[in-house]
Amino acid sequence: MIRRSARLLLSLVMTMAFALGGAVVTAGTAHADGCYTWTRTLKSGATGDDVKQLQIRVAGYPGYNSVLAVDGSYGPATTAAVKRFQAAYGLAADGVAGPATQAKLYALQDNDCTPAHFTYAEMNRCNSTWSGGAVSAATAKANALSTMWKLEALRHALGDRPITINSGFRSTSCNSAVGGASNSRHLYGDAADLGGIAFCTLAKEARNHGFNGILGPGYPDHNDHVHVNQGPSHYWSAPNCGI
Ligand SMILES: [Zn+2]
Repeated sequence: MIRRSARLLLSLVMTMAFALGGAVVTAGTAHADGCYTWTRTLKSGATGDDVKQLQIRVAGYPGYNSVLAVDGSYGPATTAAVKRFQAAYGLAADGVAGPATQAKLYALQDNDCTPAHFTYAEMNRCNSTWSGGAVSAATAKANALSTMWKLEALRHALGDRPITINSGFRSTSCNSAVGGASNSRHLYGDAADLGGIAFCTLAKEARNHGFNGILGPGYPDHNDHVHVNQGPSHYWSAPNCGI
């Protein structure tokens, strides 16, 4: 597409300028279209894959103890999530995903569609293929991606402080090697073991960002990290944090 080409060219020019001059500020240069480009404003009533792409990226804003359905249908829950995303980034919170909201999402995503502060490598220290888990490699990787967008929302809510991922996707053998439960969500790619910020701070805030599973201090074997997941069953337990 012309627009994509123009952006890539701009990015290239900026990169060259930086390489040559060293003084050009390139931080924040839009390289996002290496991932995905929306071609219309999205709002209530819209349906399609472009809505689904939006939902993946705002699913970390479902409200307390909620999970946003990534179903390609822009209903009230998506409108509310977009409003929370907009408010979190100082945009006009109208619940309509127009150019300003899309631009913020472009700025937040890398060329491989991961959010700015998390990587596939962090979410998979087990293998490079995403295979050997409880779901197909493609599903595991997609689950990891949606988990990272929720982590990006969590990170932003906690003041943009770095969160570390100690363990993400695990094949059956990787899971066995670390003594993971046989039905662990790590086998699905949608679980992450977190650190880097006080555990109870992480566990409490995670309740606002679309995680059906939260395990933390006071739950057996979870005093040294907080586990979050996107499994289908709701289970939160971090007794030492009042959860
Ligand atoms: Zn875990």
